[in-house]
Amino acid sequence: MNEDFQLETLAVRAGQERSQFNEHSEALYLTSSFVFDSAAQAAARFSGEAPGNVYSRFTNPTVSMMQDRLAALEGAEACVATASGMAAILAMAMALLKAGDHVVASQSIFGSTQQLFGGILPKFGVAATLVVGTDPAAFRAALLPNTKLVFIETPSNPLTEVFDIAAIAEVAHAAGALLAVDNCFCSPALQRPLQFGADLVIHSATKYLDGQGRVLGGAVLGRKALAEEVFKFLRTAGPTLSAFNAWVILKGLETLKIRMQAQSANALAVAQWLEAQPQVQRVFYPGLPSHPQHALAMRQQASGGAILSFEVKGGREAAWRVVDHCRLLSITANLGDTKTTITHPASTTHGRITAEARAAAGIAEGLLRVAVGLEAVGDIEADLARGLAPAA
Ligand SMILES: *Cc1c(COP(=O)(O)O)cnc(C)c1O
Repeated sequence: MNEDFQLETLAVRAGQERSQFNEHSEALYLTSSFVFDSAAQAAARFSGEAPGNVYSRFTNPTVSMMQDRLAALEGAEACVATASGMAAILAMAMALLKAGDHVVASQSIFGSTQQLFGGILPKFGVAATLVVGTDPAAFRAALLPNTKLVFIETPSNPLTEVFDIAAIAEVAHAAGALLAVDNCFCSPALQRPLQFGADLVIHSATKYLDGQGRVLGGAVLGRKALAEEVFKFLRTAGPTLSAFNAWVILKGLETLKIRMQAQSANALAVAQWLEAQPQVQRVFYPGLPSHPQHALAMRQQASGGAILSFEVKGGREAAWRVVDHCRLLSITANLGDTKTTITHPASTTHGRITAEARAAAGIAEGLLRVAVGLEAVGDIEADLARGLAPAA
């Protein structure tokens, strides 16, 4: 589709291929396989000489539409959809790394991603070094001659640390490594890492791309040659996206920008309100001028995003009190939904690491993460205020 169109237009128009019925909305092709006109056509499709669908583990028209639309939004040459965000990261690693290679990853990445790099890939001879903090020099210091991939997530979960994509891309490229950015928290509506020099973008489409908590999905985006390698792994190994989930995500993308803008605006309002509460020790939100990397965030991101965290005075007891007084906010570790969610990282998402490791990572006992949705700001604040109020 014409690259001159702006993101809002691409979100509702890019990637659509109409069938002979000329349907207005994108069609959902629920079929495992495709029929050939002749033995010769079957042979040509199987060999790859002729374009066309063969089997939905390889390609499916609904999945292709979703891939093309997301590629347009990220400004990527190509997109490969996967069954989940973790399947995207696994597929990228299996396609682009081999035994003897080394990965440099931020320590502030999704827990399962850490487990993949630290616990699973080493079984196949791929080692990883985790970098603490956001300083590009620390990433440079962790590079080895066999480093092939640098992996970051920005802003991070739950402390919303912001990583300088352009600076870390330079560090990776100087060492001949690729930079992959997990763009789950911002989505292309707020941040496009490829513009800043990243080679690969990873998505858990389960989060903001669907945006309404319905399906799991993922994607790897980047240059055609890289995406082709990921595709070759996926079509053989199998963790591809189902047509139904692709269709849900395709429709989710249409409202991505307005959802992200509205949820970001809500998050900023809630963050400002939290900063003014006497029971709140500290608020972590890149959209606040008090955030140490506010300027960098505003260079890289269109806004602060919809996720914030805050530390309440009184440790775990006070934090749990806030959670347990919520009647509106959903107590769940999931995020990226139109419904606001609240979680206590120290006892959930970061509960399996030792207390010392948690403290080193800055995950305080009084820390709460809120992924702000589309409810009225006043209602969200009233829900949080109930548990923040001093016990009677
Ligand atoms: C949820 C999440 C993932 C994993 O995605 P799934 O779809 O759950 O497999 C990866 N990265 C980040 C930042 C996430 O929030």
